[in-house]
Amino acid sequence: MTVTTERSVEEFTASPRQLFIDGQWVDAASGRTFETPDPSTGDTLAHIAEGDTEDIERAVRAARRAFDDGPWGRLTASDRGRIIWKIGDLILEHADELAQLESLDNGKPFAVARAADVPLAADLFHYMAGWATKIEGNTINISVPYMPGANFHSYTLREPVGVVGQIIPWNFPLLMAAWKLGPALAAGNTVILKPAEQTPLTAVRLAGLMAEAGIPDGVVNVVTGFGETAGAALAAHPQVDKIAFTGSTEVGKLIVHAAAGNLKKVTLELGGKSPNIVFEDASPEAVAGAANAIFFNHGQCCVAGSRLFVQQNRFDEVVAGVVEIAKSIKLGPGMEEGTQMGPLVSDEQLRRVTGFLDSGRDDGATALTGGTRYGDKGYFVEPTVLTNTTPDMKVVREEIFGPVVVAAPFQSLDDIAAAANDSEYGLGAGIWTQDISKAHALAKKLRAGTVWINCYNVFDASLPFGGYKQSGWGREMGHEALEAYTEVKAVTAQL
Ligand code: ADP
Repeated sequence: MTVTTERSVEEFTASPRQLFIDGQWVDAASGRTFETPDPSTGDTLAHIAEGDTEDIERAVRAARRAFDDGPWGRLTASDRGRIIWKIGDLILEHADELAQLESLDNGKPFAVARAADVPLAADLFHYMAGWATKIEGNTINISVPYMPGANFHSYTLREPVGVVGQIIPWNFPLLMAAWKLGPALAAGNTVILKPAEQTPLTAVRLAGLMAEAGIPDGVVNVVTGFGETAGAALAAHPQVDKIAFTGSTEVGKLIVHAAAGNLKKVTLELGGKSPNIVFEDASPEAVAGAANAIFFNHGQCCVAGSRLFVQQNRFDEVVAGVVEIAKSIKLGPGMEEGTQMGPLVSDEQLRRVTGFLDSGRDDGATALTGGTRYGDKGYFVEPTVLTNTTPDMKVVREEIFGPVVVAAPFQSLDDIAAAANDSEYGLGAGIWTQDISKAHALAKKLRAGTVWINCYNVFDASLPFGGYKQSGWGREMGHEALEAYTEVKAVTAQL
């Protein structure tokens, strides 16, 4: 049975969606639109304005004016906080509609979008709303040894960075928009948001809700379009003060180059190849935990537990358990009731992930289950468990971004940290053991921005998230995110 589509969703997808610039809905300057497909069929879901350089130009002008002379900075922190809080409320009021748009556009099960993506996005705005009134500097006792006897009063101010460009991916479209917009707005910045071309719908809908919440014109601008055109123009724009990017490490490096022109601030949340480590004394829940770590969101998580390490004498049992779960997962369209795993987001991702599966096979890995595309319509891939891998194989080293886990045994606490850290990434890690001392000792040794003990994929608006090594620069969420959206000014007065 299919989830009944809300009327508002049908209306939203029935006509081309426009760009949101300076508080107005406008066509792309070129007049062009592009299609976003339904990944469960490949059929066209909706048409979207294809913004490019000229539209980014318009949006940056609007954001610049809204920051330099506009109402956002003149509002009290408390008023800003109230508007941000209202965005969270409106997301909850429109939860079914947003979850349906997300499911249709991205392919994820409606039930998952409704239970996780949408409430987490609302919670992020509610959490960040509270920070608007709590951004503080310090007073500092200074000594100035070359001015003996002089008296000073020194303090710091935390001020917004300015106009911020935000480029987000397609795996959690609404949630990634929230992670980016919430702290940027709480800190008083203005924004140009560029959603992923594969999944633009919820960001466009969110723009409408933000206007309804009272975000003034020009403070948030949403320009849909492609990465190489709209995204690249935003990253390179000389009037943009900061770029915040979530996506592949490859594009992250392009962003760094593009940002060099005016040395805009850069934060990056990039790829991962996260180890999930199951010790011999782990509780039975570790099996479902290991399956969830990789198969949640079809493996399309930057933090997916894609390298499963199991201590030797439990290896066969734990891997067999993960295989059994993989085989039981019900694949289907996101809007079909009972679907546990939807399609991958796009034909490109289908080709990429099946390319990795071919390379694993060619290199000698064994697929205990899965290993191929599922069906011949839409972009489905079977949940896959690979064994007999070696540390140099492509499937072990590179981020696959699909429901594919590589499983390998390990001997002891002494050798697992080195194996787990043997990656150019450092985003997440999981540890499963009933020995809490062992868990914390290993947590310290892992070079990763997030470590989960006896759980995985636990996110909260108050927990900083980001990567070591090539997994990124800076942190999202928590009060750390505010730091990434503020500059510090030191003020000194001689008394
Ligand atoms: P994926 O490979 O998983 O699709 P990407 O890193 O390519 O992830 O995309 C993440 C976001 O980056 C998307 O919004 C995309 O449009 C954007 N993007 C892609 N290429 C560029 C680029 N050269 N400059 C700026 N943004 C880009």
